[in-house]
Amino acid sequence: MTLPIYWQNPKETGPFEVKIVSFDNGWVQLDQEVLYPEGGGQPSDQGLIIKGTNRWQVKHVKEKSGNIWLKLDKTDGLHVGDIVQVVADSKRRRILMQMHSGQHLFSAVLENEFGIGTTRVQMDVTESEISTDMKMSEEQIDKAEKIVNGIILGNVPIKSLFLTKDEVTSLKLRGNIEGISPKNGKYRLVQIGRDGTIDKNLCGGTHLDSTIEIQAFIVTQIDGKRIKFKCGEPAIEYAISLSQITRKLKNMLSVGHERFIEIIEKTKNENRKLRKQVEHFGINIIENEIMVTGKENRIVELKNFDRNILQKWKGRIPEGNIIFLLEDGFVAVIGTQAEKAASVLKNHGYKGGGKKGKYILKFIGNDKLPSLPEEIFSELKFIRS
Ligand SMILES: [Zn+2]
Repeated sequence: MTLPIYWQNPKETGPFEVKIVSFDNGWVQLDQEVLYPEGGGQPSDQGLIIKGTNRWQVKHVKEKSGNIWLKLDKTDGLHVGDIVQVVADSKRRRILMQMHSGQHLFSAVLENEFGIGTTRVQMDVTESEISTDMKMSEEQIDKAEKIVNGIILGNVPIKSLFLTKDEVTSLKLRGNIEGISPKNGKYRLVQIGRDGTIDKNLCGGTHLDSTIEIQAFIVTQIDGKRIKFKCGEPAIEYAISLSQITRKLKNMLSVGHERFIEIIEKTKNENRKLRKQVEHFGINIIENEIMVTGKENRIVELKNFDRNILQKWKGRIPEGNIIFLLEDGFVAVIGTQAEKAASVLKNHGYKGGGKKGKYILKFIGNDKLPSLPEEIFSELKFIRS
């Protein structure tokens, strides 16, 4: 049984001497399986074909009807029967191995610790993702992350075995055998731990020899049943960037990182209170200045007033009154006669638009927060309130 080189020694990335067997519309088939084809949630290898001093880029690799095909950036200069060198992008291969072995370990920990199954996996070079059959709590994720990194540091062996269907069905596997096709009559089992004590999973991906080579595992995002994570170099780079942000925040907030969440929650609550107060004052202003009956044909200028508050009161602005909200660089015109007022402003060079009694226009000139030109009041035959 000849096994693909990426299974025999996934750390070997070439150059390999191979022969070109055939072409198909930008794709080329080689006489040996040296590059990993996309499958099982692991993206394909990329790399180079070298002939003499010429190079062709391998963009993608796929398996079709049992044959491996390479998508090249161009095929000019290559012919059937050519002996060429193939090199896999070793950094890409290494990171995808770290992500894939890391994913097996993470999924195994979720199953062993919490009885949570993995329903989908997608590896990538910057970030990978799994879907689980149950929503996980923050505490479960925290615990799993710690256990996974403990096993990584434990230098636990990862091993691939090639088994018959009978041998496989006698084992207790994570995941099942359905939908997995054997290669040369054999199933590939990837196990973590001596005799697979931590994990046994059927898989065709490229894997490391020990958990220590995963280097690090970090969960980056939880979105329902979808969990994003990083391993290897991308995880370490992420940890470094978080550490840099943490140092800045420590100085900014004058507290240790363990108090960040408490401080942010406190600030959010204070903000909520302040907004309520602002809304309360805003409503007072509106009631006293604008809603008072008998006051008509007036223009009210409100500077840096929360538009959302006024939006709620829009329908109650007395007929014939116009409100101008002046903000940095912008003026909002609100009221039943807003259209008329907006057109006057446009005649004065203001730009913008709107509808249904609400117009947002941009100030002309450089003034950040100017007043409205006096002519507008006379043209509208309104008085400034
Ligand atoms: Zn796998």
